[in-house]
Amino acid sequence: MKFAADRTLGKLAKWLRILGYDTLYSRTLSDDKFFELANEDRVLLSRNTRILNKMSSDRLIFVEGNDPKMQLHDLIRRLGLKPDPDKFFSRCIVCNGLIDSVTPLDVIGKVPDHIWTGHNRFSECKSCRRIYWPGSHLEHSLREIRRVLNP
Ligand SMILES: [Zn+2]
Repeated sequence: MKFAADRTLGKLAKWLRILGYDTLYSRTLSDDKFFELANEDRVLLSRNTRILNKMSSDRLIFVEGNDPKMQLHDLIRRLGLKPDPDKFFSRCIVCNGLIDSVTPLDVIGKVPDHIWTGHNRFSECKSCRRIYWPGSHLEHSLREIRRVLNP
């Protein structure tokens, strides 16, 4: 399932990307452009009542609550999603691009020296070239995800 999140749902979009779901999100998207994304086979996520009044569709989901983790939990339950652990961290949390493993040699000079010497597994976003490595926020995120999926 693919998603598009409106501009109020940046954190939820990030979580969906961490779980591997293709999720468009832009702070600058106009309402009209946002609605068009429904035609691209995406489920629209919004917590904006103005949008809700402008469009009624079974492709639009009104997200309630302020806590992104609760929003995610609610969405998973409502849509019966079964996040696949093999897909976790397969998408860039910044741009939604696919990320791929790269060798330490590929990232020389692209990450801080202490990171480079301390890790031997890296991955890179094929779109924006951001480099990821295990540890730091990713492991923290994974723990959070498990908590969201199994409260
Ligand atoms: Zn990226």
